[in-house]
Amino acid sequence: MTAQTSSTTSRAACEAFDRADPIRAFRDRFRLPEGVIYLDGNSLGALPKAAAERVTKVLDVEWGEHLVDGWLKDNWMGLSETLGDKIAKLIGADAGEVIVVDTTSINVHKVIASAMLMRPDRRTLLTDKGNFPTDVYMAQGLIEFLGRQHRIKMVEEDEVAESVDEDTAAVFCTQINYRTGRLHDMAKITKAAHAKGALAIWDLAHTAGCVPIELNKIEADFAVGCGYKYLNGGPGAPAFVFAPKRHHDKVRQPLTGWLGHANPFEFGLDYKPAQGIRQFRASSPPILGIVAMEAGIDDMIEFGIGNVRAKSLALTSLFMKLVEERLAKHGFGIATPKESERRGSQVALTHKDGWSIMQALKARKVIGDFREPNIVRFGFAAPYVRFADVWDAVDHLVQVMEKGEWKKPEYQNKKWVT
Ligand SMILES: *Cc1c(COP(=O)(O)O)cnc(C)c1O
Repeated sequence: MTAQTSSTTSRAACEAFDRADPIRAFRDRFRLPEGVIYLDGNSLGALPKAAAERVTKVLDVEWGEHLVDGWLKDNWMGLSETLGDKIAKLIGADAGEVIVVDTTSINVHKVIASAMLMRPDRRTLLTDKGNFPTDVYMAQGLIEFLGRQHRIKMVEEDEVAESVDEDTAAVFCTQINYRTGRLHDMAKITKAAHAKGALAIWDLAHTAGCVPIELNKIEADFAVGCGYKYLNGGPGAPAFVFAPKRHHDKVRQPLTGWLGHANPFEFGLDYKPAQGIRQFRASSPPILGIVAMEAGIDDMIEFGIGNVRAKSLALTSLFMKLVEERLAKHGFGIATPKESERRGSQVALTHKDGWSIMQALKARKVIGDFREPNIVRFGFAAPYVRFADVWDAVDHLVQVMEKGEWKKPEYQNKKWVT
């Protein structure tokens, strides 16, 4: 990189940050294509090398040799819970409170329904306008299914805490906004919910694997999270559900499949829920997906979620600083909060030609993505993104703008997946 820069941080300085990075060895645990600067780990995390090895072992030895005995011999039946216990360490939950099952959307359905059953006299579900659409859609579907007795109250992002009232059954929010990276104060909102007798449900899709949190310390009532973003579980990886022990006896979730039954192999015809977190399971666990996901989570625990967060904040603040210094004149804005305690691990730039700009960047092997209407989104997965990558990404963006590369006709039409 030789481009002229008016920046106060040089590429050499960024290389020095990389040498001083306490988790620099984490990157070697991933398989990353040569020459690619991958800033989309918030959408699909990179492949941990150990995931490929473990899946191969399951295919060759466990499934290939043990066949159906694998359910016990290789603990397939217990993997949802053993992996849940590991995720618990990243989100401040206790063992026995997290289980890896189904997908995020399906788990949202389960926990919202559970909360409604725990507050049968209340009719409002509170959320904010920054929530991810699927979470809202799932709530809408549930309300429709239950005969439209409930309503969704949707408020501005910074008005959630004061909008809880005596009719609120539950607040359901996503901690980190998928577009802007804005981070909710979970402790404050949970407390405000409890003060009015409501429950607090958290979607940790953009939190788990990049921001350490304390679900039990803040007394969260339920949480769900995504396996394929910062947890690097692979495309379509299973998701997780958290329910604290204090709710285990009271809770009922509606997807009462046989593997959430107290004794599935008795094959009785009356549903009786299992004790503990297992009652959130409905079906046979997706073993290949769970095994692929476990490898990256073991690495995450080894390198430390606190270290990951510290590096991620340094990466995102460096990126914003370089953008301000070098790109302001090209019409970019920054939609992500500057204060560390108010942002997750991504930076959202705004630009009226955002889609075309991202296509031109991708042609230069800088991979981020675009979100309507004008957000150019960059995720900084601290396990494998380097400070020098941040510098290079900004430098590529400067060149895309100065050379007008984004104006090419083939970059003008949007695709189905953005
Ligand atoms: C990514 C994401 C999801 C994904 O849901 P799937 O059911 O896995 O497709 C859900 N909620 C939020 C907040 C997300 O960011």
